Amino acid sequence: MNAFLLLGSNMGDRIAMLHEARVLLSAQAGVVVKQSGYYESEPWGFESATWFINQALHIETPLTPEQLLHTIQHIEQQLGRIRATPSGGYTSRPIDIDILFYGNDVIHTPALTVPHPLLHQRRFALLPLCDIAPAYVHPLLHKTTTALLQQCPDQGRATRFIASAGERR
Ligand code: ATP
Ligand code: CA
Ligand code: CA
Repeated sequence: MNAFLLLGSNMGDRIAMLHEARVLLSAQAGVVVKQSGYYESEPWGFESATWFINQALHIETPLTPEQLLHTIQHIEQQLGRIRATPSGGYTSRPIDIDILFYGNDVIHTPALTVPHPLLHQRRFALLPLCDIAPAYVHPLLHKTTTALLQQCPDQGRATRFIASAGERR
């Protein structure tokens, strides 16, 4: 199945984290068919000094949506993410991996909502996604990712991030 993921990191060596996540995803989740450029974005929904770097991936995966979720959560743990926010809410993290689309499937379970419910409200998610899937039609909103980006009201800053030669992989 074709699935689209959003990777984000705002701790440590952010570019290295995204690279490691891609390596682990190709070993555990399937073939990485396409990867977007990097985008740097200000934290969304909480205050932090460190901006995020985001990247969207198109993967071809043999996993079911539930298996894919478990796999990305396992990879987040391997990369040192500690899920310890008793109060809930958004926090800094070395890596966050969200499922944006799983084919054209619409999923509403306690553990999983696909398409990602905030995708169309987030410039930092739509920008990289449009890099790799500009004509992909959102299965619930019936608009292309490009149209969703054009109409997105999000004022959060997000721009293309050029990795330095040392960071590039
Ligand atoms: P947001 O989803 O708003 O970006 P977040 O990524 O910070 O928030 P997490 O703490 O990483 O949220 O995840 C909370 C829970 O969201 C996960 O345990 C998972 O079960 C659930 N979840 C629901 N839909 C998805 C999805 N499409 N992709 C990833 N996780 C999802
Ligand atoms: Ca997220
Ligand atoms: Ca997440």
